[in-house]
Amino acid sequence: MTYKKSMDATKPYDLVVCGGGPSGCAAALAGARDGLSVLLIEGRANLGGAATSGLVSHWLGGRTQGGEWVVGGLFRSLSMEAADRRSALIPTLPVGVLYQPHGWLPWFIHGIPLDPHGVARLLDDRMIDAGVDFLLDTQAVDAIVEGTRISHIVIHNKGGFAAVPARCVVDATGDADIAALSGCGVRKGRDEDGLMTPVTLVFHVYGVDHRKLSETINRNRTPKFRGKIRELREAGIWNFPYDAFISVQLVDDETAMINTSRLTGIDGTDGASVTEGYVRGRKETEELLAILRDHVPGFENAQVKEVASMLGVRETRRIVGDFELTVGDLQRDASFDDTVGFSIYGWDLPDPKRPSVQPLVDESGRKYESRVKKSLSTPIPYRIMLPKPIENLICTGRCVSVERDVLGPIRVMAPSMAMGEAAGVAAAMVRVAFGEVSPEALRGRLRECGGIVDREVLPKIEPRVDP
Ligand SMILES: Cc1cc2nc3c(=O)[nH]c(=O)nc-3n(C[C@H](O)[C@H](O)[C@H](O)COP(=O)(O)OP(=O)(O)OC[C@H]3O[C@@H](n4cnc5c(N)ncnc54)[C@H](O)[C@@H]3O)c2cc1C
Repeated sequence: MTYKKSMDATKPYDLVVCGGGPSGCAAALAGARDGLSVLLIEGRANLGGAATSGLVSHWLGGRTQGGEWVVGGLFRSLSMEAADRRSALIPTLPVGVLYQPHGWLPWFIHGIPLDPHGVARLLDDRMIDAGVDFLLDTQAVDAIVEGTRISHIVIHNKGGFAAVPARCVVDATGDADIAALSGCGVRKGRDEDGLMTPVTLVFHVYGVDHRKLSETINRNRTPKFRGKIRELREAGIWNFPYDAFISVQLVDDETAMINTSRLTGIDGTDGASVTEGYVRGRKETEELLAILRDHVPGFENAQVKEVASMLGVRETRRIVGDFELTVGDLQRDASFDDTVGFSIYGWDLPDPKRPSVQPLVDESGRKYESRVKKSLSTPIPYRIMLPKPIENLICTGRCVSVERDVLGPIRVMAPSMAMGEAAGVAAAMVRVAFGEVSPEALRGRLRECGGIVDREVLPKIEPRVDP
């Protein structure tokens, strides 16, 4: 069936950023800082993406366990500003206790717990101050392509359809929507069967007694309650396909983010499947909370504060670029001349069918479940953001050109912001194509803006210590 529609064109922009998550917000701010006219398009009511609408309120991957910054630039400045506003905490490793409540493992101390509403407010303010135009509740629904260039992004909101003329486009949708719509090469999930890692409907609870929870975890050395879950499973109480309890104490010490459920078989690019994810997720939220109240000390009086309005999708499409960052690159600790940032996060991409298992693929393609060693930091080469064949499009965040397991370290939010910042800076350097931007000039500008792009200046990173 063909459907034709005429629509108005809006004013033109140097840069149109599709998706206002961590990577899209960083791209918009960086582009505006370098003098571009920028329009940021976000499908939800808040900027911030997974951290706000998805209630994944914990920026990971940007600091060492000792609290030094591995991702600088906009990530560091937004973190500091959010902390000044009491919308974030910048925790330090406590002395004398094994486990700390912001993730329950010492090395998780590098994360930055957030108040999602405060962060959404901060991002509104930062966009306004930077002169970024932004549209909320607005979807980017198509791209008009002329040859190998996008000429317009088609948007839809309560005002109907409109076409936005764009010189450059950042695809920060997480799902490579614009790359797919404009005919770029994309792939989805595992090569063998297309299956993707499970999704989660995150929820926040209040009324948690973190002192009691902490005492239990430290006394029993049980950060994820695996033994208790085994008992509950044997008693027919825990019937979920995962074996770990994951919570993070947020800014207010009675509030916790529950990132425990793992819903298998959901495709984040399929409307019916996403709907199933919400329905199953809400049901599981209720079931999980009832179990936590009865069986996890500290949760006796916990109440749901909020259930995410955006399903937590970890994986959908990845672009197929000329260059792909591989597991082998990370095992070899490869360095790249076009590095635009780093991540300090590990392999974390649960098996599509067995959500508590982290399978990895070695270079011969053999599957095994033991840990594949990689260096402590993961470099982010600029080339992983370049799709083919559209030359004025760049992709950021969890949809870049990497071997699937590399999504583990690279998909978290601090490195996503590093990618977004690099994309925004690159957009100001583009004459014709993102592929023609000089990596040295790009890295130089990122350094000037406080970015960390050189291995030599990375803080000394100690191997993580799991008690
Ligand atoms: C359950 C779960 C737990 C996680 N835990 C952590 C964690 O603790 N810490 C951490 O750092 N990372 C975590 N991650 C990973 C991280 O949240 C994401 O990989 C990261 O947010 C990627 O950033 P992004 O900017 O690419 O995408 P997103 O944060 O997904 O943002 C994309 C934005 O684009 C918008 N959008 C999408 N399509 C369109 C469109 N067509 N038009 C307009 N807008 C659109 C979306 O509404 C969204 O706001 C987790 C992920 C999940 C799902």
